[in-house]
Amino acid sequence: EHAPLFAEARGDIAVSFEFFPPKSDAMSETLWKSIKTLAPLRPRFVSVTYGAGGSTRERTHATVERLVRETSLTPAAHLTCVGASREEIDDIARSYWDAGVRHIVALRGDPAEPGQPYAAHPGGYANAAELVTGLKQVASFEISVAAYPEVHPDADCPDSDLDNLLRKIDAGADRAITQFFFSPECFFRFRDKVVARRPDVEIVPGILPVTNVAQARRFAGQCGAAIPVWMDRLFEGLDDLPAARQLVAATIAGELCGQLYAGGVRHFHFYTLNRAELAYAICHMLGARA
Ligand code: FAD
Repeated sequence: EHAPLFAEARGDIAVSFEFFPPKSDAMSETLWKSIKTLAPLRPRFVSVTYGAGGSTRERTHATVERLVRETSLTPAAHLTCVGASREEIDDIARSYWDAGVRHIVALRGDPAEPGQPYAAHPGGYANAAELVTGLKQVASFEISVAAYPEVHPDADCPDSDLDNLLRKIDAGADRAITQFFFSPECFFRFRDKVVARRPDVEIVPGILPVTNVAQARRFAGQCGAAIPVWMDRLFEGLDDLPAARQLVAATIAGELCGQLYAGGVRHFHFYTLNRAELAYAICHMLGARA
C-alpha cells in the first residue's frame, strides 16, 4: 500500500531558519511576525544574511542583536570577507562575540556589482577558508560554511570545489549548509562524496520553497544552483493565483524534504525569505511540532 513519504517522519529532526535583514518598517514587521511563528519549533539556530558586497553590515548586526536581546533563539550571523580588510572583519567578529553571538556563517561573498569576477581585497581574507581560520583566531565561534551540490560556478571542476569545502572544514568549520537544490539524488551524491573523505562532516541541506519560478531563476543563475525545467510547467498559468502557487511550492519542497528524510537527513535549513508559512508547514509534516 502506498504511504506518503511523511508517514515515516517521527519528529526526530533539527531545523534552522535563514532570514535577511529588513529594509523598511513594513519588512521588519513581516520578519518579526515570522520569527514569532517559527520560534516554537525550537530551531537549532536562526541565521541572518549579509548583503552582497557587505552592504547590510549594520542591518545584519542590528537584527542579530535584537534576536539576542528579545528572543531565546540562537542567532548565527552571516559574514562575508569580500571588499573588506582583515582588521575590519576581525572587528565585526569581535563585536558579535561581545554581543553574545557565538555562531558565524562564514562566506566569501560576491562582488557588489553582479556579474563581475571576484577579486580578493588586497588586505583581506582571500576566500572563505581563510576567513574561517581568521575567525577562529578572534574567538572560538561555532562556524557554518557554504557547500554546493551542483558545484560553485567559480570552481574549475567538482573535485576542486570539494577540496575547497574540505579546506573550510579543516580550518575549523563545524558544518556545511548547502546552496538550494531540487534533486535529492544530487544532494545524496554530493553528501556521499564528502562523507567518503570526511566521515564526521555534517552536510545540512538548504531548502528553498519556491513560489515564483521566474524570480528564483533570476538569482539562481549565478550561485551554483539550477531551477529544473519541470518546475516551470508546475507553475504555468498561476501568475495571478498566489494561493495556488503557495500550495504547489509546499508540495514540491515537501516532497524533496520527505525524500531527504528517507535518505537519512535529520537537519533541514530553510531559506525562509522572511516568510513563515511554508517552512512551518514542512516542519510540521516532518514531525517538528511546537
Ligand atoms: P569559497 O568557499 O571561498 O569558494 C568560492 C569558490 O572559489 C569555489 O568555487 C571554490 O572552489 C573556489 N576557491 C576558493 N578558494 C580557492 C582556492 N584557494 N583555489 C582554487 N579555488 C578556490 N552571500 C552573501 O553575500 N551573503 C550571505 O549572507 C550569503 N549567505 C550564504 C549562505 C549559504 C548557505 C550559501 C550556500 C551561500 C551564501 N552566500 C551569501 C553566497 C556566497 O557568498 C557565494 O556563493 C560566493 O560566491 C561563494 O562563497 P563561499 O563562501 O562558498 O566561497
